[in-house]
Amino acid sequence: MNAEEIMKRLMEGNSRFVRGESKKYDFVAIRKELVAGQHPIVTVLTCSDSRVAPEYIFDVNLGEIFKIETAGNVVDSVALGSIEYGVDHLHTPVLMILGHTQCGAVTACCKAAPGEAAHGNLGEIMKRIEPAAVKKKRDVNASIEENLFCVKDCILSNSGILKKMHEEKKLKIILAKYLLETGEVKVLG
Ligand SMILES: [Zn+2]
Repeated sequence: MNAEEIMKRLMEGNSRFVRGESKKYDFVAIRKELVAGQHPIVTVLTCSDSRVAPEYIFDVNLGEIFKIETAGNVVDSVALGSIEYGVDHLHTPVLMILGHTQCGAVTACCKAAPGEAAHGNLGEIMKRIEPAAVKKKRDVNASIEENLFCVKDCILSNSGILKKMHEEKKLKIILAKYLLETGEVKVLG
């Protein structure tokens, strides 16, 4: 499947999910089939939020989504390595960066008082969301979308492998927002 066909499949799955008409998959059969190896169609970088579950949202089977989940869908070198594995080793032609409405991580960053230190290691996450929050004057909804563009820039500036594949049009990067309120996925670019 090429990038266009993959996006069509994902968006059709999303509309089934929205309508409450998700497919009934035979997990026992597919689990056995996948023992031999995985061939996911898409790499998805999304938020750790328990309400955002890509397989359900896109109504796909086991083995179809290679995913990386971090609070605020931000990346560090470990997350980047995982994305490179999905794209370069497992050959998914699409990388989707999927944010969502009501994102707690982005909200926390927007609402933090200037200079306020985050608890424990959460500061590492806040630091990565901060540029989007600053650019959008701490408006939560606008920052959620801006953060997707910042994460894409961060990926392309820090991964030579992904940058090259993107430039050579071997990799399509899709920015999308999941609407918790309706179940819809809105593609931003
Ligand atoms: Zn979130």
